[in-house]
Amino acid sequence: MRPYLLLTPGPLTTSETVKEAMMSDWCTWDEDYNIGIVEVIRKQLVELASSRPEEYTAVLMQGSGTFCVEATLGSAVRPEDCLLVAANGAYGKRMGVIADYYHLNCRVMQFEETQAVCPERIGEYLDTHPEVTHVSVVHCETTTGVLNPLEEIAKVVKARGKVLIVDAMSSFGGVPIDMAALGIDFLISSANKCIQGVPGFGFIIARRSLLEQCRGVARSLSLDLYDQWSTMEKGHGKWRFTSPTHVVRAFMQALKELQMEGGVVARHARYCENHRILVEGMRSLGFRTLLSDDEQSPVITSFYYPDADFDFKAFYYALKAKGFVIYPGKISQADTFRIGNIGDVFPTDFIRLIEEVRKLDIRF
Ligand SMILES: *Cc1c(COP(=O)(O)O)cnc(C)c1O
Repeated sequence: MRPYLLLTPGPLTTSETVKEAMMSDWCTWDEDYNIGIVEVIRKQLVELASSRPEEYTAVLMQGSGTFCVEATLGSAVRPEDCLLVAANGAYGKRMGVIADYYHLNCRVMQFEETQAVCPERIGEYLDTHPEVTHVSVVHCETTTGVLNPLEEIAKVVKARGKVLIVDAMSSFGGVPIDMAALGIDFLISSANKCIQGVPGFGFIIARRSLLEQCRGVARSLSLDLYDQWSTMEKGHGKWRFTSPTHVVRAFMQALKELQMEGGVVARHARYCENHRILVEGMRSLGFRTLLSDDEQSPVITSFYYPDADFDFKAFYYALKAKGFVIYPGKISQADTFRIGNIGDVFPTDFIRLIEEVRKLDIRF
């Protein structure tokens, strides 16, 4: 069932047991599914995300991660509000695009793709633009692998009383985050990233008191976060429309495996070790990373092409033949490729990967 490992930032390599969990069919109206699976997941997500779970609630939403970002912005930001998006990559930029589609009052604060978002600049902007009501930011910008300083950003935003929305798509479950301690109001992630499930739905963890005020704000039926939540809440795990039942069951298994591994802290340690072996190995072969080490997440790493003649396609297919699928780069300023460290992949896999890259004998 595993022709090659996906060293990509999601969909990613999942365990055999997560895949096996999809082998039965579920009725969306039956309590075996609603109460036995969906409600268990919602409760566990809130507990994973917050040291004060009673203040938060979880909503599951059909579709990929972007659907959940759109549902959140479209359901939490009113026409009279003003959203500040801090962007240092494609996913930050995408939040600005969503805001445009919804005709939201939105300012995009653009940062270099190769640099972390600067909390001080956000603070200065908020001090001179009191009309801003909401701030959104990406935690791990998967475009490059940069890890934005969430703690400092949250401090600046919450000190000024703004609503904080975090796209933690590629970090939640793999990098410790405490929503309550940081004051995060909405956090968005999806099934096929660090929780190590399969794609098909995403989730939003929201401050309950704020979500309760979002009734009637959404300008999309399918992506009405409030309505999705109130149906789930009142119906004890019932989704409004057909849910990806097999994917949801696989996700419950993935959560169980996260717990068995030792929780987010243990998973983070494994990803860090994967990343360390990858970067040390690649550097020993002459490759250079795009980012400086202090801005780099353990989630995904961008490497420069070693020279102008580097044939990424040939490199890609050579590694694929050896059982590793890597990822092209996504930035315009430099030729790069990316290698992910997340998923059901382990330090031994990265030791093998480096050995295979070494054998390719790329000359610099
Ligand atoms: C994966 C990801 C998303 C969502 O992308 P989809 O293709 O819609 O799943 C959003 N933000 C970040 C930071 C991501 O890594």
